[in-house]
Amino acid sequence: ESIVRMQGLSKVYPNGTVALQEVNLNLTKGEFVSFVGPSGCGKSTIFKLITGLSEPTSGRLEILGKSPKDARKDNGTAFVFQEHTLLPWTSVIENVMLPLKLRGDSKKSCREEAERVLELVGLKDYTKALPRMLSGGMKMRVSIARALVSKPKLLLMDEPFGALDEITRQTLQDELLAIWEQEKSMTVLFVTHNVFEAVFLSTRVVVMTPRPGKVSDIIPIDVSFP
Ligand code: ADP
Ligand code: ADP
Repeated sequence: ESIVRMQGLSKVYPNGTVALQEVNLNLTKGEFVSFVGPSGCGKSTIFKLITGLSEPTSGRLEILGKSPKDARKDNGTAFVFQEHTLLPWTSVIENVMLPLKLRGDSKKSCREEAERVLELVGLKDYTKALPRMLSGGMKMRVSIARALVSKPKLLLMDEPFGALDEITRQTLQDELLAIWEQEKSMTVLFVTHNVFEAVFLSTRVVVMTPRPGKVSDIIPIDVSFP
């Protein structure tokens, strides 16, 4: 099942900056894909196109077999950003229920689904807490729960752990992998400039280079840790 299909996808900004040139990429169901590359290589641009926030200049882009905007409207895609977009003075569970309330689900099912995903991220004892009072790692867990609550087929994460300390980052990486393994059919697209993070998390790594022809090969070698 095709989740993301890009064919000759290009983005040129009005000022003439070529952010993406003729990108071809097919991603199928259930993959965990990281996009890695230096700042300015087009990672945000690719995400803006996938989410329908920006229009390609040329080429084709299909998400879940639809236009990016339709995929978003149908709750097919969900996002997690580095900066938390939680309502600081609204309880954790209300924050998580929001996407379901907006689409008109019943109160009972909003609450049940929110409780399910809060348990998944280890926050079932924090449903009444205010995001304002939580640590960065806890707020990130709430953001992840809110993204998962609508059961997206495609979860997009843009440098989600970039602002966290190393220990919290590692814990959340492990948790995210456990969640992805549990929600078997969910595809994750993960943007990072941290190569180690990409390699640790992903089934596929997309390397974006701003210097065409420079990287001629990427060689994965399997190693096992004691
Ligand atoms: P990354 O997320 O990897 O840092 P971006 O997608 O933000 O890369 O940027 C890719 C290129 O496009 C960069 O050269 C950047 O300066 C340029 N760019 C991004 N957004 C715009 C914009 N709105 N207008 C003009 N140039 C842009
Ligand atoms: P478009 O509507 O062409 O897809 P965006 O929505 O990505 O463009 O543009 C977001 C804003 O970022 C624009 O208003 C633009 O002025 C601003 N911007 C301009 N140059 C850059 C740049 N080099 N990097 C990031 N953002 C930029």
